[in-house]
Amino acid sequence: MNPNAKITDEQFEAYLKQVRELVEGPFDEMQKEIEVTNTFPEEFYELAKKNDLYRFYLPSEYGGWDLNELEILRVQEEFSRGPGGMRMHLHHAADMNWRILDDYGKPELKAKYMDKFQDKTIYCNFAITEQNGGTGADLHTTALKDENGNYVLNGEKWLISHTDCSDFTYVIAVTDPEKSGDERLSAFFVPNDAPGFEIVPMPHMMGCKGAGHAGLKFTNLVLSPEYLLGEEGQGMEIAIHSLSVSRVHIAMSNLGMAQRMLEISLKRANDRVTFGKPIASRQMIKAKIADMQMMVHVLRTAIYDFARDFDIDPHNDYVTEKAAICKLFSIQTVKLVSDEMLEIFGGDGYFEDSPYGPTERLYRDCRAMWLEEGAPCVQRITIARETQNHGGVIKYNF
Ligand SMILES: Cc1cc2nc3c(=O)[nH]c(=O)nc-3n(C[C@H](O)[C@H](O)[C@H](O)COP(=O)(O)OP(=O)(O)OC[C@H]3O[C@@H](n4cnc5c(N)ncnc54)[C@H](O)[C@@H]3O)c2cc1C
Repeated sequence: MNPNAKITDEQFEAYLKQVRELVEGPFDEMQKEIEVTNTFPEEFYELAKKNDLYRFYLPSEYGGWDLNELEILRVQEEFSRGPGGMRMHLHHAADMNWRILDDYGKPELKAKYMDKFQDKTIYCNFAITEQNGGTGADLHTTALKDENGNYVLNGEKWLISHTDCSDFTYVIAVTDPEKSGDERLSAFFVPNDAPGFEIVPMPHMMGCKGAGHAGLKFTNLVLSPEYLLGEEGQGMEIAIHSLSVSRVHIAMSNLGMAQRMLEISLKRANDRVTFGKPIASRQMIKAKIADMQMMVHVLRTAIYDFARDFDIDPHNDYVTEKAAICKLFSIQTVKLVSDEMLEIFGGDGYFEDSPYGPTERLYRDCRAMWLEEGAPCVQRITIARETQNHGGVIKYNF
């Protein structure tokens, strides 16, 4: 453990085991109904609270355990083995949910709210995406100042997660329409019970059921200046820094799922006998297992490398680039591993309720990762920009 952590090595290892048993036991079981209702039951939130899943990542001043980034990510790997919607909720809880307010909130807001994350008294979602514009200077939601110095929010957001269980929304909006670049944008901490805040229902998704996706509509929603995060014009910078870290959490989600898919594929390949031999003994199957393990191993090392650098300096020169690399490579990993899992399982893998694990659900759930925190094109644009800026040479800490 890092020397500042409030738990011991033994307690941490026991906690990782506890989380795995929870997600592969009660959470997997609970998900069967959530696949139909698309809503988490109260029992899910209660179990998450009881198992410290809203607490473990927080600094001790806010009720947490002072874990470093690598330790937080290791817990994330465990809960990512479970249902995708719950993973999405818990990944967001451990990350942007509290970090944005902590990093960019005004002292009076932080004093009021930062100790309320530990037991989910508050939960904050994040809204940047719009249906009618690109993510960046092309956003259309506005927050213009009125004659009293307050901001008046108008516009719409789309594809927003956790809308059914959030108390606040981090919103990126245009504050200076005269400007043309990212400096048009600012970030706000918006109370969801403010007059003018509306949730617009969306159709159900392919996987990750229960994560509360919807659109948002703001009509003349008035915000006093204390709800501005950082400075005016800093909106995109706040979004990019927060998304960078979150991209690694997405990469870790893919790693957790890919690791579980690899393990259940191995078990199945050992058990399934055709023409007198387990398929695990066939060279074609061994090649699949080797490719799966290669991707899982390389992804793990890339994430651990990011986390080590982040723990030394959260604003180091390679945060954005390495986070995009982790996210992009994790999509390649989960794509290959989920395809190979399906081939190793044969027809049984296409059905629900396999005795080895939820193959069909894992295959669907992992597809959300293509889009969460930016599509592969966006990761490539980011990596190319950073690589061209520094001439292609990354400095490593090993
Ligand atoms: C499960 C799920 C959860 C989500 N949760 C949230 C959330 O909580 N909050 C939130 O704000 N958003 C959320 N999103 C939205 C998500 O971030 C976007 O779907 C994603 O960033 C892609 O943006 P888009 O859907 O607007 O696609 P588009 O912008 O329409 O992009 C379509 C394709 O075109 C490419 N493209 C677009 N513009 C360019 C360009 N200039 N140059 C090159 N290629 C380009 C994209 O890379 C992509 O491949 C979520 C999405 C999903 C699926």
